Amino acid sequence: MKLILLGPPGAGKGTQAKMLTDLFNIPQVSTGDILRAAVKEGTPMGVKAKGFMDAGGLVPDEVVVGIVRERLQKPDCAAGFILDGFPRTVPQADALKDTLAELGKDLDAVISLEVDSEALVERLTGRRTCRDCGRGYHIKFDPPRVAGKCDACGGELIQRDDDKEETIRKRLEVYQSSTEPLISYYRKAGLLGTIDGMQDIQVVKKEILAALSVA
Ligand code: ADP
Ligand code: ADP
Ligand code: ZN
Repeated sequence: MKLILLGPPGAGKGTQAKMLTDLFNIPQVSTGDILRAAVKEGTPMGVKAKGFMDAGGLVPDEVVVGIVRERLQKPDCAAGFILDGFPRTVPQADALKDTLAELGKDLDAVISLEVDSEALVERLTGRRTCRDCGRGYHIKFDPPRVAGKCDACGGELIQRDDDKEETIRKRLEVYQSSTEPLISYYRKAGLLGTIDGMQDIQVVKKEILAALSVA
């Protein structure tokens, strides 16, 4: 299964990608996660990316395209992958097409998760992530059993620096201007499936599986 999860920040891409990863036994390729790891490690790429991320802007196309090209060549992507947060611009989508052609692969589907802007702000301000294992939570919609602690590993739950209201508004604008055009891009390519992402997490998952015809 070679899949793209498309949608605005907070739509639930990461949440769904993690569940699909377990079901299909294929990796989640999240450019956001890879970039945050690079920032944390202080690699040259991380240093370069940090300013764009803190400001709620996009990291330059050539940087993320390079990340994904390298990642998709790893052996664990042979049976498939779930792209989460990439592509985010038309040039990135074009570059992905070239990379997949070079690797002799084809996308199976692009799933677009649709969520209202006000709901996105609430989701992002309440999002928490385990510092140790990366599992995601929401203080209201998907709370941990013990406040502030990860169910899976007991790690501390932290809030992302860019999940502050001001940066969130900027990211939503960037989504509309740079990423939303990908919806028609993939519709034209005959790959798009649209899901109502306002529904409960488990219902969204069910509808994604139905759209992939594997339910
Ligand atoms: P994305 O990866 O698209 O930015 P996430 O998967 O991180 O989004 O989800 C953003 C926040 O919203 C998280 O706190 C998550 O727990 C919560 N969330 C995800 N899906 C839903 C849903 N269907 N209903 C309510 N909250 C959700
Ligand atoms: P979210 O889904 O909540 O917007 P991500 O974790 O996908 O967050 O991305 C966090 C930040 O990392 C983005 O705001 C952007 O600065 C950077 N980033 C991630 N993926 C890309 C990409 N494909 N192109 C450019 N920048 C990216
Ligand atoms: Zn954890």
